[in-house]
Amino acid sequence: MIELDGAQGEGGGQVLRSALTLAMITGTPFRIERIRAGRKKPGLLRQHLTAIEAAAAISHARVEGAAPGSQTLTFAPQTIRGGDYRFAIGTAGSCTLVLQTVLPALWFADAPSTLTVSGGTQNPAAPPADFLIRAWLPLMRRMGATAEIELLRHGFYPAGGGEVRASVAPSQLAPLELDTRGDFHTMRAEAIVAAVPSNVARRELEVVARAFSGVDTQIRDLPQREGPGNALLIEVAHQQVTEMFTGFGARGVSAETVANRVVQSMRGYLASGAAVGEHLADQLALPLALAGSGRFTTCTQSSHLATNLAVIERFLPVRSRVDAVADGWSVSIEARE
Ligand code: ATP
Repeated sequence: MIELDGAQGEGGGQVLRSALTLAMITGTPFRIERIRAGRKKPGLLRQHLTAIEAAAAISHARVEGAAPGSQTLTFAPQTIRGGDYRFAIGTAGSCTLVLQTVLPALWFADAPSTLTVSGGTQNPAAPPADFLIRAWLPLMRRMGATAEIELLRHGFYPAGGGEVRASVAPSQLAPLELDTRGDFHTMRAEAIVAAVPSNVARRELEVVARAFSGVDTQIRDLPQREGPGNALLIEVAHQQVTEMFTGFGARGVSAETVANRVVQSMRGYLASGAAVGEHLADQLALPLALAGSGRFTTCTQSSHLATNLAVIERFLPVRSRVDAVADGWSVSIEARE
């Protein structure tokens, strides 16, 4: 039984989510205390409870302590079974974080699966569904993983009501080495509006077009019932990797402010020369460790990444290093002797 302290590192929900994924795949039970101790509202929220429920269903786990607000959990998995799974968060809690918790386990199942999760698909502080589909998934495929993710319905904070579906087949992961991003291919920006005037989308895209000449811009005008919500996505494709930076409209924040923040994130990434940005970095760590080894460069070394690497080392026989390099940091994971 692995004992984890949920307050370690930045003390957020990732300690729990990574532990669930790794417990299922390695068949190792764990107990965690002080769950999300570093967050304003500590303990389990609907998103975490749904991730636990999903992980338990997929691995027939014995679970103790899965209640709203609980700061202690015991999770003892058995065999991972492929199948058709459907989970509902019931709030705007992030579907993508639930999906990302259980999807890797289904690569280690005995049969193909489908996985449908409803809740928020475009949440601040979580990967937007578009990010998973366009930035994260292509790298997983390059590592040998078989998976498709579809965004069936958008769900914004605070209403939720979105849905994502994944089709997954058992897969063997191979190491990935991503030292450089390669040559520039294209840059695209998309402003999403649902029950928000399309003028907001136009103003956001004008800011992007002024900042990056030659960027391809597009408005995704959704049915009223999927809103209210607004998000701005800027995607840049290089030979080796596609990165995406996102901003979310909020009451009292101008379209120009939302757009300028995303432009700044993109500029920081482009100026660095590193292969991936902050978010893709922390989301690559676990799959690379599952493959046994791997390496990438990133422009930002976040506490989220450091926390995730520490949890990974508790479950898998790997060692990770983060070294300063010209373009930012090089993160490498290798088998421990
Ligand atoms: P919780 O809120 O459940 O406590 P946490 O605090 O551990 O979770 P966050 O720091 O909020 O988690 O981040 C959750 C995940 O979402 C991280 O993997 C982070 O990289 C990812 N993420 C956050 N914002 C974005 C974004 N704009 N694009 C892509 N990924 C993102």
